Amino acid sequence: MSNKTSDYELTVIVPVYNEEENMVRLENTLLEFLPLSIKKACVLFVDDGSGDRSLVRIRECCTRNEDFFYISFEKNRGLSAALKAGIDYSFSKFVAYMDADLQTAPADLNLLMAELEKKDCAMAVGIRARRKDSFFKKLQSKIANGYRRMMTGDGAIDTGCPLKVLRTDAAKKLPLFKGMHRFLPALIMLQDGAEYVQVPVRHFPREAGKSKYHLWNRLWGPFIDCFAYRWMRSRYINYRLKEGNLR
Ligand code: UDP
Ligand code: MG
Repeated sequence: MSNKTSDYELTVIVPVYNEEENMVRLENTLLEFLPLSIKKACVLFVDDGSGDRSLVRIRECCTRNEDFFYISFEKNRGLSAALKAGIDYSFSKFVAYMDADLQTAPADLNLLMAELEKKDCAMAVGIRARRKDSFFKKLQSKIANGYRRMMTGDGAIDTGCPLKVLRTDAAKKLPLFKGMHRFLPALIMLQDGAEYVQVPVRHFPREAGKSKYHLWNRLWGPFIDCFAYRWMRSRYINYRLKEGNLR
């Protein structure tokens, strides 16, 4: 299977769930970024079953602009599912991920891409320098990051940063499950020889729309997922071929 994303070196996956108020600014920001991207890039919106007019805005944007594509879910399935679908439908050499709320700048994807190539890594993840979220949200992240680092040994400072670049072949091999978007560094490390780099990026307050994640919907899941990760790590399959005759 392939699609139009294979004409590009980079596909920027943007999960969208009820982000109607952000769509115009999102389109403009991405339009500014595309000619500046160090890799020939396109955008892939993944509408996660929005109940507002996000999908209408997405369709309009993709009609107006050449390098914009979209897929849309029947029903809301959550950020991990949107990310998985984005990876499934991307056929460029690299995929990037950024949120629709513009709390990070797509221009910083160039920093991640440069670092990924310099260190020859499977993935580059952002670290939100001077994070512009509420004190309570930052505290939750601090505790969650500390606990997850202890359980997984992934060393990730800010795994929730919504700015990442991955080699598509490594991304397609990730074991994907609900909540996995918080475990990408740990999951990448399962792959034989795969490493990741962390790069400071800018962060901005959410100016429009509402945050969908809060304490109660990200407390229990990630706690349990750490145990699931440890089990998965002990069972993960890696193999290398010595030879074969398929060509
Ligand atoms: N999102 C999604 N499906 C959902 C919830 C959120 O695709 O069920 C998207 C949302 O539109 C945004 C990103 O995931 O682009 C992160 O969500 P949000 O900004 O609400 O989370 P926060 O940054 O506050 O943790
Ligand atoms: Mg956000």
